[in-house]
Amino acid sequence: MSKECIFCRIVRKEIKSEILFEDDHVVAFRDINPRAPVHILVIPKKHIPTVNDIEEEDLQLLGKMVGVARDLAVTSGISESGYRLVINCHQNAGQEVYHLHLHLLGGRKMKWPPG
Ligand code: 5GP
Ligand code: ZN
Repeated sequence: MSKECIFCRIVRKEIKSEILFEDDHVVAFRDINPRAPVHILVIPKKHIPTVNDIEEEDLQLLGKMVGVARDLAVTSGISESGYRLVINCHQNAGQEVYHLHLHLLGGRKMKWPPG
């Protein structure tokens, strides 16, 4: 848990967000600056800065995050049309918030490869 981290503050409800899912380990909420009609962030409650910091003991948590994203794709109505799951790591990928998050993006046709 980090005092200053914006996503830790969302977990603690110190910053308001539109939470779509929450359990003991994972929170999912709408991105404040959506890049697609559906843009949801799935995060661990545990403060893990980047993919590089994922430890062996976190791997189950990562699977849980993917499962939450899959379920939210269904409830958002994009599971059949398609969607993208993205984790940005460090500067070259454009990571802005250093608390691990899985982007669930869908509701429009995406370009490949990403810019
Ligand atoms: P990154 O570039 O680090 O992969 O993505 C960070 C994402 O977090 C961005 O899409 C940005 O819009 C989102 N974000 C940043 N601050 C907040 C916030 O306070 N609330 C919500 N809901 N999303 C945020
Ligand atoms: Zn954090």
